[in-house]
Amino acid sequence: MNIGAMLELEAARQRLLDAIQPLPAETVSLSDAAGRILAEAVVSPLDLPPFDNSAMDGYAVRSADVASASPQSPTLLKLAGHVPAGAVFTGTVQPGTCVRVFTGSPMPAGADAMVMQEDTRLETNQPERVLVLDRAKPWENVRFRGEDIKAAGVLAQAGEIITVGRMGLIAAAGISTASVHRRPVVGLIATGSELVEAGQPLPPGKIYESNRRALEPLLARCGAVTRAFPLVPDTLDATRRALKQALDECDAVVTSGGVSVGELDFVKTAFEQLGGTMDFWRVAIKPGKPFVFGRLGGKFLFGLPGNPVSALVTFLLLVRPALRRWQGATNVLPPVGHGVLAEALTNQGDRSHFMRVRVDENATVHSAGAQASHLLSSLAVADGLVEVPPNASLAAGSPVRVIRINE
Ligand code: AMP
Ligand code: MG
Repeated sequence: MNIGAMLELEAARQRLLDAIQPLPAETVSLSDAAGRILAEAVVSPLDLPPFDNSAMDGYAVRSADVASASPQSPTLLKLAGHVPAGAVFTGTVQPGTCVRVFTGSPMPAGADAMVMQEDTRLETNQPERVLVLDRAKPWENVRFRGEDIKAAGVLAQAGEIITVGRMGLIAAAGISTASVHRRPVVGLIATGSELVEAGQPLPPGKIYESNRRALEPLLARCGAVTRAFPLVPDTLDATRRALKQALDECDAVVTSGGVSVGELDFVKTAFEQLGGTMDFWRVAIKPGKPFVFGRLGGKFLFGLPGNPVSALVTFLLLVRPALRRWQGATNVLPPVGHGVLAEALTNQGDRSHFMRVRVDENATVHSAGAQASHLLSSLAVADGLVEVPPNASLAAGSPVRVIRINE
């Protein structure tokens, strides 16, 4: 196996992105499209709002009629009709008259402003007489046709994710389907003879398997359809059989464990025996150095190290962008926030260290605790990761970027 040199993170990520072409498009109902990635731009068939309408509960008026209205000297108007939201006023507002409107009611013909209800008074027993207590400027409190989106305007671009906001906008344009890239089906395999399923007794020397539990929701968040496979003991034969089954049934396989340098680390060898090629192995990051990326036909192997923190970090930094690009996303990088360090973070090693941090409500960033890659307790309280460059210390008070791990 010619695995080449250890890659820097950026180079490794670029290799992954270059290897992966977006999956084909499919049309799905908009209600199933949240979080999916658009394969085509979505264009509005109409103006939004579709007609001029009232921004207030109140009265549609001719602004000239109420130009001098004030609390001391109200203007009296005759009520000529009602337009609930969803209805249309068929007449025209004549001088000296007004029409009752509600938020969203179409602007009646002849009116050029809305007076809010709070600036009016009705005379007892004379509901057709409306006293206007304040002037209205022309087009005050009117929401204009097309001020949000013009007909033929782009609501969202290809490669953009259907966020809840875009979902609302697309629905408001009366569109009920979306053309999105297909989701990849990803097999999830945990290797290690020491691993035991939760709920079973724990024999001496064994540990409970946890990586599949943590990776399943991460995969789902990236839009993948996940198939978790049974635990795989550390033999070449069992590893090869498990990889073959997963590669037969899925578009890609994410493995955990068995990618290091030990003689019981079989993932790379098993994959090559199945005809796969290693694109790269080892990335200059801590934790997560032994990450491996392989290709077989149009399918991919993402081999994560077994230490739970290493598995999560490599997933976020490398697999997540790959899965996003596979679904056609333009923006594939992990979500980041910003904060200021409460205490120094120091990296004495020669690889970038992605340290677990907590971010408090003032955006102050604290170490989440001990940083060894097998420690789950600091991962459990962490909000994100801060990259500390090799042989460097970030002083307390430094502004930092935080890669968010829980979204
Ligand atoms: P490996 O990458 O196979 O050398 O595993 C590194 C460390 O991670 C070892 O201590 C393993 O026991 C542990 N480990 C591997 N896979 C898992 C898993 N699926 N769940 C929890 N711990 C694991
Ligand atoms: Mg192992």
